[in-house]
Amino acid sequence: MAIQKEIVVSGIRPTGNLHLGNYFGAIRNYIRMQEDFNCYFFVADWHSLTTHPDPKDLPGNVMSVLAENIASGLDPEKVSLYVQSDVPEIAELYLLMNMLAYVGELEKVPTFKDKVRLQPENVNAGLLTYPVLMSVDILIQRAAKVPVGKDQGQHLEMARNFAQRFNHRYGDLFPEPEAFNYGDNLVRIPSLDGKGKMSKSENEMATIYLADEDDKILSKIKKAKTDTGAGEPGAPIPESVQNLLDLMKLVSAPDVVPFYEAAYHNQSIRYGDLKKQLGEDMVNFVAPIRERAKALQQDTEYLKKIMKAGAEKARANAAQTLQQAKKLIGINYY
Ligand code: ATP
Ligand code: MG
Repeated sequence: MAIQKEIVVSGIRPTGNLHLGNYFGAIRNYIRMQEDFNCYFFVADWHSLTTHPDPKDLPGNVMSVLAENIASGLDPEKVSLYVQSDVPEIAELYLLMNMLAYVGELEKVPTFKDKVRLQPENVNAGLLTYPVLMSVDILIQRAAKVPVGKDQGQHLEMARNFAQRFNHRYGDLFPEPEAFNYGDNLVRIPSLDGKGKMSKSENEMATIYLADEDDKILSKIKKAKTDTGAGEPGAPIPESVQNLLDLMKLVSAPDVVPFYEAAYHNQSIRYGDLKKQLGEDMVNFVAPIRERAKALQQDTEYLKKIMKAGAEKARANAAQTLQQAKKLIGINYY
């Protein structure tokens, strides 16, 4: 008998072009996981409406996220790549799971509190129940593992809680998903201005996107925050400089970082040179992905075919779970 691979679920919101944070924090792991697990990767279009209620170009964003994932190395033959709204079973289980979620616990979630601060004019119920929908995305595929980036974490705990609560009340159905990463490459990519992280929808000028043209990449790196001079001998490397060295570790040859570290410590560092080197290496890294993604986006028929095939597989699996959930609750009248 063939050994069944464990199921993994993860999603990315279509809120803009993907960036280095998405690549090194998520997609790089997806590419490894596609060999080891039964992967369900989705474009979280419903989730994006909680913060972007008037999307300027949702179809375009969905297509670019798909194209950029494939261009980065995700193989639609190996994983189920789908769009959340193509799997209506998720919405039905979300409705049912909302009955097991308490307003008090949802109000305490730190990301909810952040969003209330960021968009006080639009504290919608979807924002409050975001963790319920996210949990259902995972549970409906009966995932064993969820890749968790450094900017997340707590949400998975909620998915485990909802699984437990359902199983306890209605009967065993959901495995409790565990956080997963390969351990050796968990990163959080900071924004180039030193404020927060690179992000699709914030910090645009300080975020390097996979769609950025060469000159854009070079100019963003040129403007990145560094230090006013080399510090006192023996002083630790300041955060802004360390951030650039960390990016170098990801895209430059292995001997480049030690060279600049040594230059910092012996006070011969020239930030212009460092940025030039990082800029060149970054362009060499991003350009092939960008060009592949561009070509894919020209071929919308191909992307739609991928979406459809992914949705079919995701729906088949989701429908089984939903049916069992309804049966356990008692919604089976015929
Ligand atoms: P938004 O600004 O719309 O929230 P985002 O850039 O934060 O967009 P998400 O769609 O929220 O992206 O997250 C997709 C995946 O990328 C998640 O797994 C998340 O952990 C990861 N990720 C996002 N930003 C970074 C970052 N700067 N460093 C590392 N991982 C990141
Ligand atoms: Mg985010």
